[in-house]
Amino acid sequence: MPWALLAADEATIRRYRAKVYDRGDRCAFFLGAISSSGHGKIRAGSRKNGTSRVVTAHVLGYVIANGADALPEGHVVRHTCDESSCQLPAHWVAGERQDNIRDYYARSHRAGHALNDARGPDGRANAIRDAILGALATGADVEAAIAAAIAAGNPSGESQSTLD
Ligand SMILES: [Zn+2]
Repeated sequence: MPWALLAADEATIRRYRAKVYDRGDRCAFFLGAISSSGHGKIRAGSRKNGTSRVVTAHVLGYVIANGADALPEGHVVRHTCDESSCQLPAHWVAGERQDNIRDYYARSHRAGHALNDARGPDGRANAIRDAILGALATGADVEAAIAAAIAAGNPSGESQSTLD
């Protein structure tokens, strides 16, 4: 992947930023296409120089923010917040795939946790994106819409924890 070229492409940076919902220091959810693993997908690069391709949004965001050298070969960009579509640079850390797997087993059992969402990571990310876009279109409270979209994935979260 020509990350250095993609991260330096002005049109790519503009297209990426337009699809990120900024909430200050809280998770910045992706507003574009979501993959089956819950990750944002976006077309980056340009056909003119042959770099046009669909990439994972948070990996593109990571190299835009930190430079391609900050992502050594074979590394992945992990989410410390466990929201797979989050685009907030403060919630990313480069690591190895096995770190991701360890995190998943350590945290996915928690009631109400992002990794425990009944809809799966893609269902959750799509629901949050649609809630934001819907609230923006109608002038509704975006934060309330996000909270409702998140809560809908854990309908039995509270009763489950009392059974533990
Ligand atoms: Zn986040």
